[in-house]
Amino acid sequence: MKTHRDDGSFSFSGVSWILKTHLEKEKPSQDVNGRLFIDKQKEATMKTHSHILINVPHASTFIPEEERRFFDEGKLTHELLAMTDHFCDDLFGLGYEMIRFPVSRLFCDFERFRDDEKEMMAPKGMGACYVACSDQTPLRQLTLEHREEILRTYYDTYHQALTLAVEEKVGQLGRCVIIDGHSFPAVPLPYEYDQNPNRPDICIGTDNFHTSEKMVRQTTDFFSKKGFRIAINAPFAGTMVPMKYYKIDPRVSSIMIEINRKLYMEADGTPNEDYSALKEFLGEWLTLIEKC
Ligand SMILES: [Zn+2]
Repeated sequence: MKTHRDDGSFSFSGVSWILKTHLEKEKPSQDVNGRLFIDKQKEATMKTHSHILINVPHASTFIPEEERRFFDEGKLTHELLAMTDHFCDDLFGLGYEMIRFPVSRLFCDFERFRDDEKEMMAPKGMGACYVACSDQTPLRQLTLEHREEILRTYYDTYHQALTLAVEEKVGQLGRCVIIDGHSFPAVPLPYEYDQNPNRPDICIGTDNFHTSEKMVRQTTDFFSKKGFRIAINAPFAGTMVPMKYYKIDPRVSSIMIEINRKLYMEADGTPNEDYSALKEFLGEWLTLIEKC
């Protein structure tokens, strides 16, 4: 059950209320436009009848005020600049339904495994709740109880919201195509496993069950023709699929798009002159994917 609210925010069976409450308490000043899941301006023209669902997990710079004291405050500005997928909620905000994680990945990273034992980034101090910076120095103090509370409040809630959003698409339209929208720095950060300095412009993340060859081919062809250098599953691999459907239900497709940040922003985190053109390309590409 999905409900629109007067303020343009979105709720999936009420599970977004906790996230919403936090946002209302103090709106993130650096957040692109303070929206929760859905771009208010686009709501009137939103393509609710499209099977495309955009997932943007790393674009927020918001850390709840009461949580900031656990971080090394002196490192936060640099870490937020280095680790945030800046503007991805705006770049992928093209009129399709979007679900975006409303807090910074430094606080909670919803695309990591909940269980550190299963998470390959946990040994780097960057599992679902980061305790290390991208340069591998300490970022934050965190007890196991505190971690669990954050995971229950944010991580579990968002996973539930994403699953419900996918359920709705599948229920109403017979299928769902998840677009997992990310960006990455032009130069590898010290924590990254893949330190190859020769990075592509666009990295496509796939899953052998949920990403069709046609979708990969069309995406590769499209961006290549626009002059971009493409890599598949490098330097980042995989794409988001809710566990309920993972490797079980072919009605759920998914593809990750990771954009090299040099294509659309300056080193100081401001958009560059190519920003609008890139956003237009993404819109064209989504029209193509919608027909896949
Ligand atoms: Zn990301």
